[in-house]
Amino acid sequence: MLEYEKVPIAIIGGSGLYDPKIFSESKEIKVYTPYGDTSDLITIGTVEGKKVAFLPRHGRRHRIPPHKINYRANIWALHELGVKWVISVSAVGSLRMDYKPGDFVVPDQFIDMTKKREYTFFDGPVVAHVSMADPFCNHLRKIIISAAKDLGITTHESGTYICIEGPRFSTRAESRVWKEVFKADIIGMTLVPEVNLACEMQMCYATIATITDYDVFAEVPVTAEEVTRVMYENTEKSRKLLYEVIKRIPDKPDERECSCCNSLKTALV
Ligand SMILES: [Zn+2]
Repeated sequence: MLEYEKVPIAIIGGSGLYDPKIFSESKEIKVYTPYGDTSDLITIGTVEGKKVAFLPRHGRRHRIPPHKINYRANIWALHELGVKWVISVSAVGSLRMDYKPGDFVVPDQFIDMTKKREYTFFDGPVVAHVSMADPFCNHLRKIIISAAKDLGITTHESGTYICIEGPRFSTRAESRVWKEVFKADIIGMTLVPEVNLACEMQMCYATIATITDYDVFAEVPVTAEEVTRVMYENTEKSRKLLYEVIKRIPDKPDERECSCCNSLKTALV
């Protein structure tokens, strides 16, 4: 088995964020997994003396659509590197008028409407049912929220992320259901199964959801130029926020104020 150097923190970049541009020095490595290839090579760099891994979820140049991402390979590879903290960055649509394009959300709940993905590392003979009551790491969420506040980034401290299969967007009828019946706040295509696989690996996982536009319920006409501009600005803000979040992550894993590292304790059958 290959031995990799240990990296405690990882960023999974979403649409628009293919290079964190926050590393003082970096190199690219390939990590081999039993599930096949990760979305791309993993960049390992340093931020304020801390080792950080970066993986672009869709691959560089955005080659992989949400339903084709090898989520298990990505999370397995980060686990192989010894990652304890995963900061996921994800572009989303908004399902409520007060969550505006350009705002950030740190979701605390999700609803899974995906259809055919590989959801678990436990396909048998070992069986595990991890708790998803509180799917995100509260310690990491708090760090992100306080860093965003200090940077003056408009950030909503909670929200329900509905994850759809894609790659198509919702119909108007679906969008109204997500908003009015399911009471979801933001919509995207990549959170599941990334979040639950990270939980199965007992990692601390939280998402910075960056709003690009309103979902179709709003009937607000948007131009491609407008979406591109907001995405560019969101990416710049994400970089600043990531830098600040990494600075604030505790150096030692035993300083984690959460129970993510014990998620398998009561899950194994
Ligand atoms: Zn945690």
